Amino acid sequence: MKNQDCIFCKIANGEIPSATLYEDEDFRVILDLGPASKGHALILPKEHFADLYELSDEAASKALVLAKKIAAKLTEILKCDGFNIVQNNGTCAGQTVFHFHIHLIPRYKNDSVGLGWTPGTLTSEDKDEILAGFGK
Ligand code: AMP
Ligand code: ZN
Repeated sequence: MKNQDCIFCKIANGEIPSATLYEDEDFRVILDLGPASKGHALILPKEHFADLYELSDEAASKALVLAKKIAAKLTEILKCDGFNIVQNNGTCAGQTVFHFHIHLIPRYKNDSVGLGWTPGTLTSEDKDEILAGFGK
């Protein structure tokens, strides 16, 4: 199902032109217009899911297989030195377009891509709370 006001629905379904690297029945893979690095691509499902929480199990399993395939092809073409797969959910996590997508970000030695965090400490309170949530 498509969402009328969603730009990625329109791109994924070909209503808005894009630099398409790959397309099948379920997905379109495009070049990001604001790339973090050369070759930054986005995997867009044709069906509208706002985020990971809404994503169907079927689309989820196909999306990672596709990510693997496109990352391998981009690595071959660009001779990049590494790869990040990024997927943001929620404004606080950096999501700006609320149609599920996976970022494929080629990495190059000494590039200036800013991904990462300062490691904290796993406290026993946090650990106990989270494990309890899983019934452990
Ligand atoms: P996120 O912040 O995870 O929601 O990622 C949204 C991404 O979509 C950003 O990297 C944008 O540069 C990219 N983007 C937004 N609009 C377009 C567009 N029309 N075509 C290609 N990429 C886009
Ligand atoms: Zn959409």
